[in-house]
Amino acid sequence: MGGTFDPIHHGHLVAASEVQATLDLDEVVFVPTGQPWQKEGRDVAPAEHRYLMTVIATASNPRFTVSRVDIDRPGPTYTLDTLRDLKTQRPDAELFFITGADALSQILSWKGVQDLWDLAHFIGVTRPGHELSDKGLPKDKVTLKEIPAMAISSTDCRDRVRDDKPVWYLVPDGVVQYINKYQLYLPGGGELQEEQ
Ligand code: ATP
Ligand code: MG
Repeated sequence: MGGTFDPIHHGHLVAASEVQATLDLDEVVFVPTGQPWQKEGRDVAPAEHRYLMTVIATASNPRFTVSRVDIDRPGPTYTLDTLRDLKTQRPDAELFFITGADALSQILSWKGVQDLWDLAHFIGVTRPGHELSDKGLPKDKVTLKEIPAMAISSTDCRDRVRDDKPVWYLVPDGVVQYINKYQLYLPGGGELQEEQ
């Protein structure tokens, strides 16, 4: 499951958990993006913060792991590269890519979309406020799945922090504490100190 995870929230986690259970997947790999090409023009929290929040949020689930492939690759993140790297690391694995309804509807604009279908099977999940449809997508490469509706977005979580509203219960407790610790999403916050 790829995402900016800025921050990771319970919508992401429910989607991953539901798909893992339904398809009996061995592992769900969360892959935080490096530079998200669709989000150019907006400030994205440093990759290391997004990576660590994803680790904190997924640590207790034995089926969940986090990959650094996208944040360690220079340049903008394309799912084509993500899937190729994961396939190189796990040559025998059958890959599934989990995506919300909003992202699924954009997929035809993704780089190398024809090659994407050969690399993974796509699982599109419902998301409140977005229509889930496989219109124009190859039927044998895409499966649609209804999941419990979580009307949560990272954008709303960031806005809440900025407006001094709570994000408790929208994101895992450890992520609330991490956001506070580094003052993420506040003016001047989120600076990373260089390692000494
Ligand atoms: P932002 O508001 O910054 O775009 P987001 O909440 O959309 O953040 P992303 O990191 O952009 O989160 O999303 C990663 C993936 O998770 C995408 O495929 C997206 O569709 C899916 N997703 C995000 N939130 C939900 C949700 N509440 N329910 C189902 N899928 C979701
Ligand atoms: Mg999004």
